[in-house]
Amino acid sequence: MKLDFHLSSGQKNSDKSVNLKIDLHCHTHYSIDSIIKPRELAAKAKKASIVPAISDHNTLAAHKELHALGMRFIPSEEIRTIEGDLIGLYLQEVIPKKTPFLEALDMIKEQGALSYLPHMFDKTRHGVAYHQLANKVDIIEAFNARCPLQKYNDDAIHFAKKHKKLIAAGSDSHFLFEFGRTYFEVSAEFEDIKDNPKALLRALKSVKIHAKKAPLFVRGSTLVVKFAKRFFAGLFPR
Ligand SMILES: [Zn+2]
Repeated sequence: MKLDFHLSSGQKNSDKSVNLKIDLHCHTHYSIDSIIKPRELAAKAKKASIVPAISDHNTLAAHKELHALGMRFIPSEEIRTIEGDLIGLYLQEVIPKKTPFLEALDMIKEQGALSYLPHMFDKTRHGVAYHQLANKVDIIEAFNARCPLQKYNDDAIHFAKKHKKLIAAGSDSHFLFEFGRTYFEVSAEFEDIKDNPKALLRALKSVKIHAKKAPLFVRGSTLVVKFAKRFFAGLFPR
């Protein structure tokens, strides 16, 4: 299934000449349940002209390697808070797993970083749908390519509209083939948003989302990878 939709969450940007493609949710094999090699991701991202946020589970370990490869990316982390998953964009210091959600939000702010709420209504994953918590984040993930039901994404879009939140999208890639199918466009250049969270917030006032659901089998495959990496670590050298 292919979904293409345009969502404008505020005023339009004036410069329509530049379209930067971004995927705000992507993993590498530094996540326990992903097998994406940074070198291969860097090559694919360059070819597709997509800037991913590298948001591995509870670690920033991939960033050093990706910087060394000269890759364009936003350094991030998908933090498993006590209440559920929360992504910190532009993080420099890791935020530990099992940090309470509100504390993690404070730690993100202290770093001058941004909070991004992934798959908030996905009942098959660790979304955070409590309105009082979700209302405090900077950006809502309006489309996650791995949500098994489009309803979960629709509910996130509805929430964002109701609470006047900025929206974005992520492929949540754990396998390389997933990357490049879901991304969004904003009017900006990478140099504008590279080290500038506020510039990203400004750019997100108008987004065009290219949404394509990942095939359902990726979820089962991810569990297999997680199991295999735990028990056969030597098979997946870094
Ligand atoms: Zn993820």
